[in-house]
Amino acid sequence: MRVPDTTVATHRLSTLPRHSCSSCRDRFTPGTALDSGLIKPQLFARPAFTGVDRSDLNPAVKPGDDFFEYALGGYLARHAIPDDQARFGVDQVLGQQVEANLKTLIEELSVRSGAPGSNEQKLGDFYASGMDTARIEEAGLTPLQPFFSRIEAASSLSELTGAAAELHRHGIPGLFSFGASVDVKDSTRVIAEAFQGGLGLPDREYYTEQDEDKVRIRDAYRGHVARMFELMGEDPASADRVLAVETRLAQGSLSRAEMRDPHALYNPMTRTELAALTPSLDWDGYFAGLGRSDVDSLNVATPGFFTKLEETLKEVPLEDWKAYLKWQTLNATAPYLSSAFEDQNFEFKGKQMKGLKAAPPRFKRVLQAVDEGLGEALGQKYVERHFPPEAKTKVLAMVKNVKLVLEDKLERLPWMTEETRQRALEKLDSFTEKIGYPDKWTDYTGLNIEPRVYADNVLAASRFAVEKRLASIGEPVDRTRWEMTPPTINAYYQPVANEIVFPAGILAGVYFDVKADDATNYGAIGAVIGHEIGHGFDDEGAQFDARGNLSNWWTEEDLTRFRERTSGVARQFSEFSYDGIPCDGNLVLGEALADLGGLELAYEAYKLAAEGKPPRPSPDGFSDDQRFFLSFAKSWATNMRPEYARLIMQTDPHPLPKFRVNGTLANFEPFHRAFGLKEGDPMVRPAEQRNTVWN
Ligand SMILES: [Zn+2]
Repeated sequence: MRVPDTTVATHRLSTLPRHSCSSCRDRFTPGTALDSGLIKPQLFARPAFTGVDRSDLNPAVKPGDDFFEYALGGYLARHAIPDDQARFGVDQVLGQQVEANLKTLIEELSVRSGAPGSNEQKLGDFYASGMDTARIEEAGLTPLQPFFSRIEAASSLSELTGAAAELHRHGIPGLFSFGASVDVKDSTRVIAEAFQGGLGLPDREYYTEQDEDKVRIRDAYRGHVARMFELMGEDPASADRVLAVETRLAQGSLSRAEMRDPHALYNPMTRTELAALTPSLDWDGYFAGLGRSDVDSLNVATPGFFTKLEETLKEVPLEDWKAYLKWQTLNATAPYLSSAFEDQNFEFKGKQMKGLKAAPPRFKRVLQAVDEGLGEALGQKYVERHFPPEAKTKVLAMVKNVKLVLEDKLERLPWMTEETRQRALEKLDSFTEKIGYPDKWTDYTGLNIEPRVYADNVLAASRFAVEKRLASIGEPVDRTRWEMTPPTINAYYQPVANEIVFPAGILAGVYFDVKADDATNYGAIGAVIGHEIGHGFDDEGAQFDARGNLSNWWTEEDLTRFRERTSGVARQFSEFSYDGIPCDGNLVLGEALADLGGLELAYEAYKLAAEGKPPRPSPDGFSDDQRFFLSFAKSWATNMRPEYARLIMQTDPHPLPKFRVNGTLANFEPFHRAFGLKEGDPMVRPAEQRNTVWN
């Protein structure tokens, strides 16, 4: 169970607005067996730098007409989407390598049992329990019985609240969310936070909207919940009661767009004030149930939700709430239960929601659970074997170059006033970077993992993570903490810490190779670094100062000028559409700006790195500049199922990969020059409409 998504603990979307350069890249998502195009044989003893692989290209398309297709047509044709995935691209290809490495590692640990209580023992036993399907089948719903008994025994709202606290303590959602969060007005402290939550579908809109897609998914969800109750041996009609409760909670929830405003989510209150919003809940009992009776103040991120919850608590019968909490419990744990529940869960979440044709192999699903439960123990083993120290040194040097370029640009930006310029430089100066893996690893002492039923291990790990977060309330912020595990193929910017973070997972494959040339590395990971740094200065990042506090540091005048300049990017991306669905230029603005700004910074950082170095002979017939842009495009090579692309178009602030490549490059003059493009080519945006972030 991924604690941050399901609980009490943190909210990926909310008061910790966090950017993943690539959240259209899932965490290492499961794939099929290694394909033949993956590992290129090293035929010669010379450096691995082999330049551009011409079989990636589609020579039938001109670079000036559609660069994405020109640069990647061959690659995409060779990498069809496997049945068990919603999308497939360079990050999944790398993910397969990472998974293969992790599998070897953990299989070794699961047969060679480590000293009792050691990380090795926990990793080995966790994985082995996930692979022991006979034991899982035999156990059926047994691991959930303690929760069900408590829910069924509730004879009042007070007892129901107690049951919810017990669920929350194990990372199981229901009613609302509660957890620990950085105080955005004082980013040195951790505070308690109450938040909307408790829905079974991804967003409020899935309950409230009437368009065809949402209605189809809502109906499928109702059928799914009914089937799950049937599998539990209960009345399938409970599905209607669950849907009725969730719909009311959805009506009280903020939309995704509304949650992008950190000011709206900052509402410090005393516990008494919270209790006044939702008096029907036994808050004293709830806090006691969490083991934190001492918490007397908190941030109520979504007060409107708690008002709506109160109204719903008064009107919905207790029996319906009990059905709802049982459903939440089953829904959160189904992937770790016997095959009847696991299969039905995949039927809805995999097939209906994402268009998958088949479930990923078991070892991949179990690996993912281990990554979620013991991520830093696994990650520590992983980097020992697969992350060379010179990779960290080289990436740090690249980050330094990108920052130097930005510093130079900030000093010279003609439209920025001195006041804002000084604040921007101060913010840049206080940026920190985390590369590869944490300096301080999570200590798993106190987490008991043993040879027993899989779900019991998953629940123990989840509880351990939740309690760690709960214990941090009232403490200073731990700046060494990571929000992603080392093998994750992704990156993020964290505004409240003003830090950029690059796990070892993304510092490999097409993104980064210690042996590759500067053009190739800067075109890929260099642009990712520029992207993440850029988030510190975009419309959201601008609201957090050098210390990570929610405090605007732009003058009104500069902010207006910045918005005028950026509105062109929103207009440009609004011209894109997929399958009749228009791209929402305002939704994707922050990401599109970070892409364009990131490319501008990476290109100049690459020039800086290349200064004084002799030109190296081209192995592939492309110039260094051409290789830089081909590498940029390749870092976005992705095929997507139509169901998934439609989902992204409607819910994701990241544009589709093709738009990220073509939309960004069309603005960039050095790209036009590198490929000899001219005005009028589709990949050349007319000069008067061309956008720039840092020039
Ligand atoms: Zn981003």
